[in-house]
Amino acid sequence: MSAVQAFALLPLPELHTLSQDQVRGTTCVWDGVGLSPEIAVDLGERKLRRVDGRVSWFPRACRRCALERAMHALVEHSQSCEQCVDDQNVCALGAGLVRAVREARRSNV
Ligand SMILES: [Zn+2]
Ligand SMILES: [Zn+2]
Repeated sequence: MSAVQAFALLPLPELHTLSQDQVRGTTCVWDGVGLSPEIAVDLGERKLRRVDGRVSWFPRACRRCALERAMHALVEHSQSCEQCVDDQNVCALGAGLVRAVREARRSNV
């Protein structure tokens, strides 16, 4: 599993609580910080169910939030996953979350 696929599994705030900028991906989906290319992390494609069908949206986050959420998901996952207790490399989700944490931490600022 790639970092983007792992990011795509992170739970997001309810869509109706978000601003238009957050939905468009110009501000962080979690704390609303304005995103420059240097600090933006793609959270993958999300599907939105609407009366007129399904629409895709592509939320983004700042590195700080993405790191925080990915770390949290990794800790939660590895505590409840037997595979990860043995070896994190054999678990696709565990390995994906490790990549996501690394990706969020990578700073090119
Ligand atoms: Zn943020
Ligand atoms: Zn696992």
